[in-house]
Amino acid sequence: MGEKQTHQFKTEVQQLLRLIINSLYSNKEIFVRELISNASDAIDKARFKEQTEPDLFSDDTDFQIRLAVDPEKKTFTITDNGIGMTLDEVNDNIGTIAKSGTAAFMEALEKSKKETTLTPELIGQFGVGFYSAFIVADKICLETRAAGADKGVRWESDGQGTYSIEEIDKTERGTTITLYLKEPEEDDQDFTDEYTIQHIVKKHSDFVTYPVIMNLEKSEPLPENEIIKDKDGKPIGDTFKKVRKDETLNSMKAIWAQPKDEVTEQEHEEFYKHISHNWDKPLAVIHNKFEGVTEYDVLMYIPSKAPFDLFRPERKHGMQLYCKRVFIMDDCKELLPDYLGFVQGVVDAPDLNLNVSREILQEDRLVRNIRKNLVKRVFSTLEEMDPEKYEEFYNEFGQALKAGIPTDFTNKERIAALLRYKTTKSEGKYVTLDQYIGNMKEDQKDIYYITGENLNSLMNSPLLESLKAKDYEVLLMVDPIDEWVTQSLTEYKDKKLKSAEKGDLDVEKVDDDKKNEYSALLSFLKGKLESHVKDVVVSNRLKDSVSCLSGDDWGMSAYMEKILKASGQ
Ligand code: ADP
Ligand code: MG
Repeated sequence: MGEKQTHQFKTEVQQLLRLIINSLYSNKEIFVRELISNASDAIDKARFKEQTEPDLFSDDTDFQIRLAVDPEKKTFTITDNGIGMTLDEVNDNIGTIAKSGTAAFMEALEKSKKETTLTPELIGQFGVGFYSAFIVADKICLETRAAGADKGVRWESDGQGTYSIEEIDKTERGTTITLYLKEPEEDDQDFTDEYTIQHIVKKHSDFVTYPVIMNLEKSEPLPENEIIKDKDGKPIGDTFKKVRKDETLNSMKAIWAQPKDEVTEQEHEEFYKHISHNWDKPLAVIHNKFEGVTEYDVLMYIPSKAPFDLFRPERKHGMQLYCKRVFIMDDCKELLPDYLGFVQGVVDAPDLNLNVSREILQEDRLVRNIRKNLVKRVFSTLEEMDPEKYEEFYNEFGQALKAGIPTDFTNKERIAALLRYKTTKSEGKYVTLDQYIGNMKEDQKDIYYITGENLNSLMNSPLLESLKAKDYEVLLMVDPIDEWVTQSLTEYKDKKLKSAEKGDLDVEKVDDDKKNEYSALLSFLKGKLESHVKDVVVSNRLKDSVSCLSGDDWGMSAYMEKILKASGQ
């Protein structure tokens, strides 16, 4: 057996732990959810592996999560018979967190400067996960044995910078985590109280797909022959006895498989929180049973708040894939395009092969078909939203949607119809491209836009003078991503999208006389500005100003150049 070794936590883990331990923390009970969710993940992995290597699990296939408390020893224990971990895995997964999420988490906290309030929203979003146990524990002992391994591992830490790790004998596969609870502070819940734990599990982990079992003390009526009675037959003494019984605390409902009208709003809200780890309410629920050549259940939620890391490439997708209620994978990028990765939900497709790998999924015709239908459903949901609600969505996820324009050729037009812009005439309100077209002047051929950093400076840009003079409306584009939108959305419903700052706007032709009249001046200016500009021309663009800088038709906009410079290109 190996020696007991002591290791130092990586710097970022130490930082994180210090933060967790020293934070004012209002929602301590969340550690229960985090540990149950890890146990459930571990069982998911076990069941998945069981498909191909059943022998590894044949000793124990009654998958479950058990909780136990000990008020005397002040401990809380959680046990699962999931996949377990090898020594290396414990070191990799628990001893160090190289997870990008954590770095992002620290970064966001630094930025927000609210280092003393670690909200449940943050914990959920960043998956502080396992470490949340240090909110309530001053020592944690984790014992685990991986499926197929003959030795187990014990990991212990007080969260103060180091942890110890050693090999142990362990007969059962899976993981047991024991928390040695801190002295409770005022108004703290008692996490060694069975009733309290029961309540917390129901609240945060009701939809976990495996039974969360606890051996609870219950009162049971005494059998008739054990009740002591007086001579009139009246019971004297107890008619109930205390017994201990295993109870499943969670309902384990697969609500996606239930008929649509039998799922309550409350259930949706809770299930949404369960799968997304978010704390907002879903803005829209999409619940469908697709029937046809193949059948499958779909439950999708459009969140009401964008996560802080919406645009981080390492961010996980929100879709989970199930087959006959058996979890196959989360972060299922094959079910929706990247730009819709914020949608949270479940697809349960009974006809899928359970042994699918991600590589196979991409090629799978059924999956491609499902994806097409999911995208359609998301779009129709957005299209049918009432305008106010849609605006709420657009303010949070508009930028994500825009990323679909250059990347999803098939749906470009449909996404374009969902875009909203403020314009030179809309007085701060959003306008759709269709509304814009409806408002076009009789002699106006094209859709005009201008990109830049803020609405105010765009409104007052000298580049718009001639368009304003013609009373043409101009879309004001202030998202950096609009640059990519305009590069690939060159047309909408047969109208060209034209930059108000590039090239000759073609609103009025400059006649040759005028060009000749100024030719001497132009060549003088061109000579002077040679190293700075490509050309100097006479333009109709300006009405009040003397001159302005503009791009040529095919060049970059000024704002785009600025973005690229800022990103070091
Ligand atoms: P996350 O669950 O988001 O990955 P956590 O901090 O909650 O982050 O857990 C870190 C990692 O530790 C998990 O990804 C998993 O590899 C491992 N782990 C935690 N708990 C268990 C468990 N009960 N069984 C097996 N592995 C576990
Ligand atoms: Mg976790």
